[in-house]
Amino acid sequence: MDKMKSNKPLFSLFGKLLIIIILTGFCINLLVCLFFLHFLKKNFRDPYIRNIANYMNYITQDIGIPPSFERAKKIADSNQLTISYKNPTQAWSTSATPQNLENSDRWRTIYEQNGISVKTSHGRKQIHVNRSHGQFTFMLETDDAHTVEGYISIVILIVLLSLSLCASYGSIRWVLRPVKWLQDGVHQVGEGNLDHTVPIERYDELGRLAEAFNKMTERIKSMIQDRDQLLLDVSHELRTPLTRMKVALEFLPEGLAKTNIQEDAIEMESMITAILEEARLRHASAKLRKQPTHLADLISDLMKEYRNRKPRITIDTRMEKPIVQVESELIKIVIRNLLNNAIQYSDPDGPPIKVVIEPKVEQVMLSIQDQGSGIPPQDLPHIFEPFYRVDKSRSRRTGGYGIGLSLCKTIMDAHNGKIEVESTPGKGSTFSLIFDHYESE
Ligand code: ADP
Repeated sequence: MDKMKSNKPLFSLFGKLLIIIILTGFCINLLVCLFFLHFLKKNFRDPYIRNIANYMNYITQDIGIPPSFERAKKIADSNQLTISYKNPTQAWSTSATPQNLENSDRWRTIYEQNGISVKTSHGRKQIHVNRSHGQFTFMLETDDAHTVEGYISIVILIVLLSLSLCASYGSIRWVLRPVKWLQDGVHQVGEGNLDHTVPIERYDELGRLAEAFNKMTERIKSMIQDRDQLLLDVSHELRTPLTRMKVALEFLPEGLAKTNIQEDAIEMESMITAILEEARLRHASAKLRKQPTHLADLISDLMKEYRNRKPRITIDTRMEKPIVQVESELIKIVIRNLLNNAIQYSDPDGPPIKVVIEPKVEQVMLSIQDQGSGIPPQDLPHIFEPFYRVDKSRSRRTGGYGIGLSLCKTIMDAHNGKIEVESTPGKGSTFSLIFDHYESE
């Protein structure tokens, strides 16, 4: 479940970062809007409205008593205003098409003091100034271009804000790129690829972490090499005393003690031979002599060795040319190991072991399916490790030392192939070998 979660973009570090950035951007926008609406309204709009109201009051004084239409027209033209006047005996307007100023439904009163009221509707404003001789109405002429300009500015603002959000996301992603490299590095090392190094392109904390990670991998690699070398050296050195022991044993009188020591000596010898043989093959798989090989032919060649074995083996080739580029002797060792295990862990009178060769996308998959004892789930991740055995006590009886599958993996890795296992205890196991499909030009 955890793996599935981490694969979903929203559960990734960058996904969370994106959500945080979007939420932060949204909050900043909201705060800026609230600031403009409330703070600026209090501190700029209200005094501005008051000043306009007073200014209109001065204009009514300028128009005089009785109000002069000519004077009003002059003021209206120079200030982009419509001035209307009405009293019981006369009514005039400086605009030929006066707006419907009386329609009080659409107009909201935002200021009212000393006979002066300011009304607004959709960004337009009208100011009423009541005098003893009549009522003046001033209409601030709306400029459509201004409104459009306002909308354009808002759109530009939103685009710029979005761009800056994208830029900040991109830069944070760039800063955190080493996390992705480290994640790949940990994955590779976890898979056993100790040659993988994490790029060090930064000189910040993440760069230093990558450097420490590479040093750690290097150290683990050299420790493993030292351990392997020690094992080889000890195995080599043990051969001579073991031979001496076997010779000395021949001079001992027959008896139970002699038989037991002889059995132990044989077991030690075969263990040493297995270790040295594994080292030899590991070395051989480092310098491969690959050739295009027909997998079905290789299998039928191998089947000669398994003619009289039980349970029997069936072959199912589901593709026309299962040709792969491999060193066939090494791949035979892999298949032999898997077949021997399948036979060893199956009931001799049980159902047959199936060998299936089938196509995958640009790949060929060879699987060996048995219906034997199966492998417990807790052991599955370890069975390709050297000397790992599921049932340690069976070593003596079955003769294995847990290096067969580790060797198979080494050989498959050297071929850039893969070895996978699926198993259910009591139902059986399927080991799959995956190769790149070789297509001749
Ligand atoms: P060994 O030489 O001891 O068989 P391997 O490396 O070949 O070592 O296998 C490691 C362990 O994996 C074995 O001890 C065995 O328990 C388990 N195993 C391998 N193949 C099978 C199989 N087909 N069915 C059940 N268990 C298996």
